Amino acid sequence: MATFSKKIQKLGVYTSGGDAPGMNAALRAVVRVAIAQKLEVFGVMQGYVGMMENHIAPLTQRDVANIIQRGGTVIKTGRSTEFTKPEGRAKAAANLKAHGIDALVCIGGDGSFRGAHALWEEHQIPVVGVPGTIDNDIFGSDKTIGFDTAVNTALEAIDRIRDTAASHDRLFIVEVMGRNSGFIASHVGLAGGAEEIFTPESTTTVEKAVEHIKEGISRGKSSSILVTAEGQKPGRAYDLAEAIRKKTGWDAKVCILGHQQRGGSPSAADRILASRMGAAAVDSLLKGRCDIMIGTEGERLVEVPLDLVTKSEKKAHLDLVSLANILAT
Ligand code: ADP
Repeated sequence: MATFSKKIQKLGVYTSGGDAPGMNAALRAVVRVAIAQKLEVFGVMQGYVGMMENHIAPLTQRDVANIIQRGGTVIKTGRSTEFTKPEGRAKAAANLKAHGIDALVCIGGDGSFRGAHALWEEHQIPVVGVPGTIDNDIFGSDKTIGFDTAVNTALEAIDRIRDTAASHDRLFIVEVMGRNSGFIASHVGLAGGAEEIFTPESTTTVEKAVEHIKEGISRGKSSSILVTAEGQKPGRAYDLAEAIRKKTGWDAKVCILGHQQRGGSPSAADRILASRMGAAAVDSLLKGRCDIMIGTEGERLVEVPLDLVTKSEKKAHLDLVSLANILAT
């Protein structure tokens, strides 16, 4: 963890990378806690894009009114390749300095934190990160903002699909988000009673899934649901369906949940997590601590160095996958 001694007067806040439900609740907490501590707050629009293009404006308590229940992010988010280069970051730092911004809170994922770490290293702008991503794949925090909502959104869809699957004696393959990590798939799969869960980390094979479904059929089971993380290639569920068809002749129905998992009103758990993390980020900066992310360890909030966060990997535990397997008999 890095420290700094300058007294903060003006705080910037931005949301960056993939949006997640609860980012607004975190923004609201940052703005209101900072103003309560007599700081001036500036919103940087569209993440690093707005930082480089100088889309930076003051935020008051009223600007964050009525947003705690809204998905997405009212100050927009963005992705920028220009910012990944030192010249882009120098442009951004110059804009921040022109506004007199002393410190930043970055609400985003690990890519955003790499950028935040670079701002500190190269321009000594103190930044604290707040993990906002539906994937829950950020090292150093048990939970990220948006994950609980995304799991519940996907679960609602699965429950509906189950009605059809049961009525028509069908096999459904439901694809959820998760490029490199199977947190959403394993949680949704267990909570939704899936027979098999395919995640980037798990060793589940088509052969094993077919075997499992056949066993179920022999016990009188007439419908099944498989859950898969999208992995490196969205549409993976179609490949699985084709592999199953080739092996068995079964006509599996595919449902890709896609971006609907990102939107929607944040759950109570996400609003509470976001409010706590946003407040803690301001508190850490006021105590002169930076280049860290606010994470959770159980119920406790912790500070984790950004360098460690971005260089380490967090993988979904496979125990949920094996439990789902045992329970789906
Ligand atoms: P997330 O924060 O959700 O992981 P991205 O990976 O898209 O989303 O990162 C958001 C933005 O952070 C990128 O568009 C880029 O501008 C910045 N960023 C990502 N990686 C780096 C890096 N290594 N150095 C500096 N900036 C980075």
